[in-house]
Amino acid sequence: MSNVHLINHPLVQHKLTLMRRKDASTNTFRRLLNELSSLMAYEVTRDMAMQDVEIETPLETMTAKVIDGKKLVFVSILRAGNGILEGMLSVVPGARVGHVGLYRDPKTLTAVEYYFKMPKDMHERDVVIVDPMLATGNSAIAAVERLKELNPKSIKFVCLLTCPEGVAALQAAHPDVAIYTAAIDRQLNSHGYIVPGLGDAGDRIFGTQ
Ligand code: URA
Repeated sequence: MSNVHLINHPLVQHKLTLMRRKDASTNTFRRLLNELSSLMAYEVTRDMAMQDVEIETPLETMTAKVIDGKKLVFVSILRAGNGILEGMLSVVPGARVGHVGLYRDPKTLTAVEYYFKMPKDMHERDVVIVDPMLATGNSAIAAVERLKELNPKSIKFVCLLTCPEGVAALQAAHPDVAIYTAAIDRQLNSHGYIVPGLGDAGDRIFGTQ
């Protein structure tokens, strides 16, 4: 698991535990997801490129560091990925946002794209794909494949939760894509759910269960 970053900061773990509880309301779940996403943005941007700018403090002129947030694109895998965007954008407000919509073909069980909208000049940008759950890995793999056609500078994948099967699948298909997650749960069940997990992330974010 060389390219997997387990974010085990106590604040992240505490919030994740509260989110997993089946009695967490939609409101609580969404608020915690926002908070957790900001904390995860902190980790995933740790190695972002910086540049020097000349500024004036009240006392003198100095050379100081800034990031170029516009070079970063958060790509949400619809629909649950949207739950992560707000928290990430609160930390990097200048970032651009792309969306990928995929559904699972009931016959072939492969991911079929129904929506794809990215900012221009993707070859100049660093991509962070967001999806709360990395389960079978099929959507993540399809999203990465599609994004690689646009030649971004780098691609990272952020989820709240994954399982050994999801990590293995994404790493086998795209070993260059670093995975950032708050937990690697025991396994994938026969319905494609992560266990113990937190249920259907989209339903819990949008209150559609
Ligand atoms: N998607 C979810 O929302 N939950 C899972 O457990 C697996 C995939």
